[in-house]
Amino acid sequence: MKTALTIAGSDSSGGAGIQGDLKTFAAHGVYGMSVITAITAQNTVRVSHIQGLDPLTIEKQIDAIFSDIQVGSVKIGMLYNKRIVHAVLNTLKKYTMPPIVLDPVMVSTTGRILLKGDAITMMVEELFPICHMITPNILEAELITKMPIKNIDDMKKACIRLHKQGPKNVLVKGGHLKDTATDIYYNGYDFISYEHERIPNTNTHGTGCALSSAIAANWSIGYPSHVAIQRAKSYISKAIQGGFSIGSGDGPIKHFP
Ligand code: PLP
Repeated sequence: MKTALTIAGSDSSGGAGIQGDLKTFAAHGVYGMSVITAITAQNTVRVSHIQGLDPLTIEKQIDAIFSDIQVGSVKIGMLYNKRIVHAVLNTLKKYTMPPIVLDPVMVSTTGRILLKGDAITMMVEELFPICHMITPNILEAELITKMPIKNIDDMKKACIRLHKQGPKNVLVKGGHLKDTATDIYYNGYDFISYEHERIPNTNTHGTGCALSSAIAANWSIGYPSHVAIQRAKSYISKAIQGGFSIGSGDGPIKHFP
C-alpha cells in the first residue's frame, strides 16, 4: 500500500489543512496519515479561533508513525508558531525521511495569520534545507525573498533565491499574479513553466493545501517531481472546476467524482 503523511493544521470546515490533504490522498488511492499541529475553528467566511498544539503532542504523533509505519512521502502545511516549527524539525530529524514537500502556509485567504512572524525565519533557515520541495505562492515567496514579484522573470529570480535556502526543488505558484496563472519550477539547474488557464470559480478553499498533498501522493505512487507536479496540477484544475458552495463565503474544491 502506498502511504503519505500530512503534518498540518485541522480545518473544521473540511476544505483545507489536514482534512483537505486526507481527501487528496484518498482520491489518489494513497493511504493517508496525519500529524495535527494546530486546530482552527473556521467556516467559509472566517477563521475564528486557532489553538496551536503543544510540542510534546506533536512530537509523539510523529514518533508514533515513524517508529512503526513505512511512510512514502510527507507534506508539511500550517505550522503556526516557532515552538511547533521546532518540534516538527527536531522530531523529523530523528528518522530517515521520505521526500518532504513543504507548503509555507502563512495567511488564509480570509486574512488570518497561520504562521507567526518569528516562526518564518526558523522555517526558512532550518526546515527548508530538509525539504525535497517547497511550494510558496507569490505572496509567500515575496515575504521570504523580500523582493516584489510582478511577472515570470521575477518568479524565476525568486526561485533562485529560495533554492539557495536549501530545498532541492522550488515551485512558485503564480495563481495570485494578474495576467497569468503560470507556476514556475526550479531544481537548481532548469526551470519548467506549468501554464494553465484561470478557472472562473470562487470556490477555491483548500487549493494550495491540495496541490502540495497531491504532489506528495504522486511521489508515493512513484512519479518523479516534474511529473508529480503536472499530475497534481491537472488534479487541482478538475477539483477547482468542481468547487462548490456550502456556506455564505467561498466554498471548497471538489476531491471526489
Ligand atoms: N486552514 C488551514 C488549517 C490551512 O492549512 C490553510 C491553508 O493552508 C487554510 C486554512 C487556508 O486555506 P485557503 O487560503 O485556501 O482558504
